[in-house]
Amino acid sequence: MSLDSHIESVLWTHDQISDRVAQLAAQISTDFDSDSAPPPVVVGVATGAFLFLADLVRKIQLPVSVDFVRVESYGSGTESNGAPVISVNLKLDVKDKHVILVEDIVDTGITVSCLIPYLESKGASSVSVCTFLDKPSRRKVQVELLGKGKFYRGFQCPDYFVVGYGMDFAELYRNLPYIGVLKPEYYK
Ligand code: 5GP
Repeated sequence: MSLDSHIESVLWTHDQISDRVAQLAAQISTDFDSDSAPPPVVVGVATGAFLFLADLVRKIQLPVSVDFVRVESYGSGTESNGAPVISVNLKLDVKDKHVILVEDIVDTGITVSCLIPYLESKGASSVSVCTFLDKPSRRKVQVELLGKGKFYRGFQCPDYFVVGYGMDFAELYRNLPYIGVLKPEYYK
């Protein structure tokens, strides 16, 4: 049975994703273009942001460095357990650097709201968030950026549990090149 047959509906196609990622990268390239500031550090939240980050950085027209953090907050279900733990730390030094935190989706806001103080504690001069999807209707914690940080989002997502383009259900479906909603029988 093919992977596509597990999907009930497609919310954003591969082409729509590519167009939007190019727009975000162009905006970031403009906003962070500076002769005086050190190159920004793009920090992806593993694993969900891996495809978005890979596409985004290849379209940013500036020198950037790239690192990942890992945060454990989801089991194999569809709801956050509300207590994120940073399980893989930064390797790069972000002191006095502008950090662009790259997320697959901001849902309750708990994960990014745990990472921003962490990056502040490492001396980042600003923290921006670039999330591919945003579900503002589900927010439990307002996202407080650091310094002159900005909030970028690809698309506002309706209140569905979505998979694809890096996002999983029970560690599957990350390799779908589009964003979709799973058929209910596959949540079981
Ligand atoms: P938050 O801490 O903002 O509630 O959630 C952030 C994380 O929850 C995301 O990085 C993602 O891993 C997971 N998440 C939230 N909503 C969804 C969704 O609709 N689909 C998937 N696959 N993961 C989600």
